[in-house]
Amino acid sequence: MTTDKSAANERYRAITRNNISKLPQWETLDPELREAVEVVSAVLPFRTNAYVVDRLIDWDKVPDDPMFQLTFPQRGMLNEDDYRAVRKMIRDGADKKEIEREANRIRLSLNPHPAGQMTHNVPTIALDDGTVEPVQGVQHKYRETLLFFPSHGQTCHAYCTFCFRWAQFVGLEDLRFANKEADQLVAYLKQHPEVTDVLFTGGDPMIMKSKVLRQYIEPVLAVESVKTVRIGTKSVAYWPQRFVTDNDADDALRLFEDVTNAGKQLAIMGHYNHPVEISTGVAEEAVRRIRSTGANVRMQSPLIRHINDDANAWAELWSRGVRLGAIPYYMFVERDTGARSYFELPLAKCWEIFRKAYQQVSGMGRTVRGPSMSCFPGKCHVLGVSEVAGQKAFVLEFLQARDPDLVRRPFFAKFDPTATWYDQLQPLTASDRKFFIKPEQVRPTVEVTVGRDADRSGHTNGHTNGRHAGVPDEALRSQDPQ
Ligand code: SF4
Repeated sequence: MTTDKSAANERYRAITRNNISKLPQWETLDPELREAVEVVSAVLPFRTNAYVVDRLIDWDKVPDDPMFQLTFPQRGMLNEDDYRAVRKMIRDGADKKEIEREANRIRLSLNPHPAGQMTHNVPTIALDDGTVEPVQGVQHKYRETLLFFPSHGQTCHAYCTFCFRWAQFVGLEDLRFANKEADQLVAYLKQHPEVTDVLFTGGDPMIMKSKVLRQYIEPVLAVESVKTVRIGTKSVAYWPQRFVTDNDADDALRLFEDVTNAGKQLAIMGHYNHPVEISTGVAEEAVRRIRSTGANVRMQSPLIRHINDDANAWAELWSRGVRLGAIPYYMFVERDTGARSYFELPLAKCWEIFRKAYQQVSGMGRTVRGPSMSCFPGKCHVLGVSEVAGQKAFVLEFLQARDPDLVRRPFFAKFDPTATWYDQLQPLTASDRKFFIKPEQVRPTVEVTVGRDADRSGHTNGHTNGRHAGVPDEALRSQDPQ
């Protein structure tokens, strides 16, 4: 372990499949664990860094250590048949291309783009000639909030093993979101004054040099209707030096000040999975420095088996955050993609963990919402388990929804102790059916075919519905009994 001071002065050093064997800790790992890293990382992305390895992982607790589970691929992340198949190819010295072909087959079986991202959330922009064009690199699922994926921010200081955007990191090119220009974004925002919040996301936008990030953010500040700029980032946990000692840490803070001086709210959506991530001196200093610019820091994370399925860990995370002035924001449910079978927890268990953690924190920490599923119709909040007309049921509500009219209306699903995701739930009564919207009930904004550059093309008169992305098709909705 290094001291806080030396950690704060170190330079970023990535650790990947290619250089992992040079790590002193590598030799101390059980050979089976080493093999698992090698096999699984042939299919799913793997990147950690020296700060995570030296400062955040407790090697005496490996393999159970949460930060080890968070950044090192685990055998259980692939099903046994797939694991054995890839292992055999590696052991037999198979050709790289052959392994890559097998890896791609497995990747495509893992629901690489959940919740209609490729088909239902892609907005369009009206052109002067009357045609419409998809705005790639942008998602517009909820009326007020637009997600922007700057092309230079599509990687991270380390990769989370559970990552729901993992497909971007393994070269599934056709599934990448990217947008080289902020111009299209600004043009879209001007045509959509209902958008008040722009979330810069990735990957991790804070991977960019500050001057590159500035090129994306500055034009948005001139859009009057945008009131809040959000930056989704894991750097506060994986590389807090980004805000403290990196060469352009101060430039990043100047940019943040420029956002708040322009009269916009700046929210750093800090992705913290475990309290250890906010326990080092440099991580604390990062929060202090960000807040000194007038920005606020919000904390969010999914609830993940093997990593943070522990109410005490959540309570400690929120309490530490509150002490530093950060705001607990969301506890999410692990999404329906990638190695979910290794990481997911039953919804009933998620609710129990949330409740036990929530009980332990003061009102300052009770700003947090959850557990919440970012599923196709919206952000579905599991309010609890109760009995309704003699039947055990989940009590649910949408915190956000494609159809704003569904927001904050309590509804019920039949209790299922094994259900881990929204699409496994059944409406309790006929009046609950309207809350269970399936992608096939909503006309896509962009039709996507599998293949290179599918629908990245320009004009798409025939492919778009010319409406705000993802609003339920009224014709289909009217067939609903309610
Ligand atoms: S920081 Fe976010 S985008 Fe990056 S690997 Fe982790 S979950 Fe994925």
